[in-house]
Amino acid sequence: MSSSVALRLPSIDGLLRHPACAPLAERYGRDSLLTGLRQLLDELRPGVLSGQLAAVEIGAEVLAGRVGERLAQQQRSQVRRVFNLTGTVLHTNLGRALLPEEAIEAVQMAARYPLNLEFDLASGKRGDRDDLIEGLIRELTGAEAVTVVNNNAAAVLLTLNSLGARKEGIISRGELIEIGGAFRIPDIMARAGVRLHEVGTTNRTHARDYQAAIGPRSGLIMRVHASNYSIEGFTARVPTAELAELAHAHGLPLLEDLGSGSLLDLTRWGLPAEPTVRQALLDGADIVTFSGDKLLGGPQAGLIVGRKDLIAKIKKNPLKRALRVDKLTLAALEAVLALYRDPDRLAERLPSLRLLTRPRAEIHAQAVRLQPLFAAVLGEVWQVSAVEALGMIGSGSQPVARLPSAALCCRPQVSKRLRGRYLLNLEAALRALPIPVLGRIDDDALWLDLRQLDDEPAWLAQLSPLRAVP
Ligand SMILES: *Cc1c(COP(=O)(O)O)cnc(C)c1O
Repeated sequence: MSSSVALRLPSIDGLLRHPACAPLAERYGRDSLLTGLRQLLDELRPGVLSGQLAAVEIGAEVLAGRVGERLAQQQRSQVRRVFNLTGTVLHTNLGRALLPEEAIEAVQMAARYPLNLEFDLASGKRGDRDDLIEGLIRELTGAEAVTVVNNNAAAVLLTLNSLGARKEGIISRGELIEIGGAFRIPDIMARAGVRLHEVGTTNRTHARDYQAAIGPRSGLIMRVHASNYSIEGFTARVPTAELAELAHAHGLPLLEDLGSGSLLDLTRWGLPAEPTVRQALLDGADIVTFSGDKLLGGPQAGLIVGRKDLIAKIKKNPLKRALRVDKLTLAALEAVLALYRDPDRLAERLPSLRLLTRPRAEIHAQAVRLQPLFAAVLGEVWQVSAVEALGMIGSGSQPVARLPSAALCCRPQVSKRLRGRYLLNLEAALRALPIPVLGRIDDDALWLDLRQLDDEPAWLAQLSPLRAVP
């Protein structure tokens, strides 16, 4: 046995009464403090018993400090704001579209007060939540009716199940796509109870291919927007109008999954052309499905629009109840749709469109302005330059189109062997900032695309920890 006096951990009661702990109880609550202290003492006990800890390491002030740090860490929200400087505007992993102020206000109202979610104020009778946006959707797309669900994947699942269960769904092999891993058209069809009848080839599908597939078991014809890939070269695709004619001649509905679904022709803002919902309906699609948070620029939602009788059938499906949207989503969606009534001001008011259409020259000027500041923060090891860059719309819209942008390009001035580690260190340090900054590593450099750097003061104010990055 050692001759020194055995160390003893302070008692919980003693710690709770200690002045260093009182502010913690005030701030985080007595229960959380108690749990935190118990955990900490349990962890320290073996070290105390084995004599590995010194008295200073278990003093009340030190323990209070450690518990305080933990409680602060725990209290920090897991849902964190970040700076998306990846160059991809509608980034699925970063929450896609940002809502306009009008939608944020609508969400606050819906969160704070009771509202007429399913209550018809005119008649005083029970209402239908889809009715809250039906007028706007009819006006903006020409559709007869609408129903809204949780996301576009749900929209496709629900539509297929409602209109094609136990029947065959005819679709081109060039459209059997996978979007973001878990969403694959053949799998969704199977889950919806629709038997897949694939026609044509990956690059070419003709009207006669569809024609030959139509038979007594046919339930519907489906068309899927290729979203995240493009087929180029020797290709053939049947125009929607022709496909609709064929479907209708055989009494089959034509479904079109547009994916990003833009409501207006984007070329008026210099963006690549995307098929619009209105055009798909004019061409004869009976049902069109699209996301609320891609090019539309609203909340996560899946919109199903089209023929009134088919929408009525879809709404009767019990799955609809499982996939329906909540009041916050509907409030935001209505506010976003309302902005589309004034296309001339849309690019000012809708954040996703404003960011997508930010002129390259403006972004470049910002990069030139910020370059010396960022270079000074990173120090001599890093060469920081303001360069042209190419971004993306994201979320499967126009996968091959690039958005001309500008970036801060950071290259470590070290031997080739060390470069990879320096880049990963800088990337990790940027992620560890109070508002994490996300860029991308490419070509032995870390790129911060500035298209989406709106809040420059908040970004600049938090950079000092980067000075310590090796
Ligand atoms: C994005 C996309 C989906 C899935 O939409 P979510 O809203 O992400 O569920 C389905 N189909 C197509 C063609 C898409 O582009």
